[in-house]
Amino acid sequence: MGTAFLTCTAVPYYLWRFGVDWFQVSMFLGFFIATGLSITLGYHRLFAHKAFEARSPVRLLTLLFGAAAFENSVMAWVSDHRRHHKHVDSDNDPYDISKGFWHAHIGWILFRLEPEPPWDNITDLRRDRLVVLQEQYYVLIAVTVGFVVPMILGYLHAGWLGALGGLLLAGVARVVAVQHMTFFINSLCHTLGRQPYSDRCSARDSALMAIFTFGEGYHNYHHEFQHDYRNGVKWWQWDPTKWTIWTLAKLGLASDLRRVTEEKVLLFQLVEVRRRLEERLACQVSPLSTRTRQLLQDSRTKLHQLGDRWTVLKAEYAEKTDVQIVHARAALAEIRAEIRLAFELLDQASAMPA
Ligand SMILES: [Zn+2]
Ligand SMILES: [Zn+2]
Repeated sequence: MGTAFLTCTAVPYYLWRFGVDWFQVSMFLGFFIATGLSITLGYHRLFAHKAFEARSPVRLLTLLFGAAAFENSVMAWVSDHRRHHKHVDSDNDPYDISKGFWHAHIGWILFRLEPEPPWDNITDLRRDRLVVLQEQYYVLIAVTVGFVVPMILGYLHAGWLGALGGLLLAGVARVVAVQHMTFFINSLCHTLGRQPYSDRCSARDSALMAIFTFGEGYHNYHHEFQHDYRNGVKWWQWDPTKWTIWTLAKLGLASDLRRVTEEKVLLFQLVEVRRRLEERLACQVSPLSTRTRQLLQDSRTKLHQLGDRWTVLKAEYAEKTDVQIVHARAALAEIRAEIRLAFELLDQASAMPA
């Protein structure tokens, strides 16, 4: 509340009165990226989901800068997040979207009526010495890295006025920006976007959200495959967190990157698109035109055929001769094209008047 208040009052006043230089802008961006990535790469994918293994320098840095995001210690954060995945959209989900957008965004923190449940889901973290130290000195680390360091850097650059700028911009305003980036994952990523992998829960994929959240916007994928180190699973999807983890692995600082196989991802999409086709065909409320119905039925037949063929190919693939692998690749490409077509058909059918 304090940082939000200062960001709306003291920050604009400072900018109006003293302006801003390249140093303050770079420091704001540097701290935004360092603390934001420490949450997505460190708190989220590394500590909460164990999507990869990281060497101590990576764990140490993400714990230091993660604390400076002022989103609580990693133990508290991970405990909440694991409950979110386990009980998504229900009462035991700390940021349950069914209680409303505001509750999922920030209400759950501001108006926490019930006592916090016991941290009984983080036994693995309790064995990590660095995590235990962060828990003990959380406030000291958060204040030092998040506020004191930008002040010192600002002072070295331009004296006391620079220190004040560092505190207000790279400190206070940056905390607000990173916090809302994270909160949007709990609110907007459960509200806006598509559900290509499953409608089992409210999580959605949104390319727009991915831009503001270091790649965490592909949240429908993430809820289906939470242990994958990628959230934007396609090569072209904007996911700087995934690229950073990949780079760390190349530098020998990360290992054991967990990924779901491409075929499994495609099969999930296939099942989901089939389900939606059936639903659309069975829909009595808005009758479809004969042409749309025909198109959807054709698509359904093709998808079923492809699904059956894929089962056969998968069995052959297990034996892994070169010819079969080439076959399987071709089938994957075919399924991918067919899924894309079926999605387009569904979109067209939804847009058409009854
Ligand atoms: Zn979620
Ligand atoms: Zn997660």
